[in-house]
Amino acid sequence: MLPFIDLAAQRRRLGTAVDEAVAKVLNHCQFILGPEVRAFEAELAAFSGAKHAVTCASGTDALVLALRAFGVGPGDAVICPSFTFCATAEVAVLVGATPVYVDIDPVSFNINPAHIAGAVETAREQGLTPKVVIPVDLFGLAADHGAIAAAAKAHDLLVLDDAAQGFGATYNNRRIGTFGHATATSFFPAKPLGCYGDGGAVMTDDDKLADLMRSIRMHGQGSDRYDNVRIGLASRLDTIQAAVLSEKLKIFPEEIEARDRVARRYAEGLRDVVTVPTVPAGMTSVWAQYTIRLKPGAREAFAAALKAEGIPTAIYYPIPLHKQQAYKQYPVGKGGVAVSEAVAHEVISLPMHAYLDEATQDRIIDGVRRAVVR
Ligand SMILES: *Cc1c(COP(=O)(O)O)cnc(C)c1O
Repeated sequence: MLPFIDLAAQRRRLGTAVDEAVAKVLNHCQFILGPEVRAFEAELAAFSGAKHAVTCASGTDALVLALRAFGVGPGDAVICPSFTFCATAEVAVLVGATPVYVDIDPVSFNINPAHIAGAVETAREQGLTPKVVIPVDLFGLAADHGAIAAAAKAHDLLVLDDAAQGFGATYNNRRIGTFGHATATSFFPAKPLGCYGDGGAVMTDDDKLADLMRSIRMHGQGSDRYDNVRIGLASRLDTIQAAVLSEKLKIFPEEIEARDRVARRYAEGLRDVVTVPTVPAGMTSVWAQYTIRLKPGAREAFAAALKAEGIPTAIYYPIPLHKQQAYKQYPVGKGGVAVSEAVAHEVISLPMHAYLDEATQDRIIDGVRRAVVR
């Protein structure tokens, strides 16, 4: 079976740089918030164009840090798509708030900004205060941040960009990281910029918000470690992971270009047989997933045919959140979630990484073409 994501190829490309960076941490022994963490935060801020980058233990914690710093809690509504990874809604519940689901656009698979007003209405009807909208830059493509900002302004919502999949992508020719009041990302190994364990970060231009998040990630510390001014978390990015990430960030721009080349070849080879993803003008995708859409009912046989040829596929996401046991109790906004339900049955993702050579890609393209006609 071909790898779906080839972390071993990336490791070969990195050579001994990561090993040396990790060895340095092993020698100085500052495992929590060591100098590599500060250095990586500065690199992350520079890369994304945000004033501050606050690292933490996971992408999920990054979202929690931002919601906590926003002051979101019980009685508040957090508007988010249903077609996403569960963490997007999970964090709303973790801070005591209520997620309200919004449908997606059928082409981009990202939140449909025209439906945000309906979710605000639903939240109010349920006695909730609409506080935040969490757009997700799904599969590596930026959400429609211009329209989202306009809707958020009209309804007095804060915007928390869930860029766990979209970090490194651009919107209006600007990198993700400064759209909305805060941007959260994940360094889970399979994400476009991944570490060798769990990790995450929040970017923001807001000084006060950044200070609050730095306090919350350290048990709510005040002037020093034993002065606790609020309830917080134990959520730091390990110094070792920061050292790994600094090395990976150096090759990230090249990897983004390589991923884009793979995506362009997929599109050329497949656009006449399946619905391939498109990238609107002014945007670039970081291709966290290369997700195609098939005809209704075709997916199971398609996946089996590829598997028989040693080509792995994955389904992101088979069940939208509003249908999942832990998440179905939360309200769906006015406007419904019909697109989310249809898409969940028809999408499938192909192998995607920066080290996919042309011969292997041709094998996948040929396999897909054969599997479609079958
Ligand atoms: C991966 C992911 C997260 C959570 O990241 P972790 O680092 O695994 O906690 C949140 N949102 C989305 C959309 C994701 O894909």
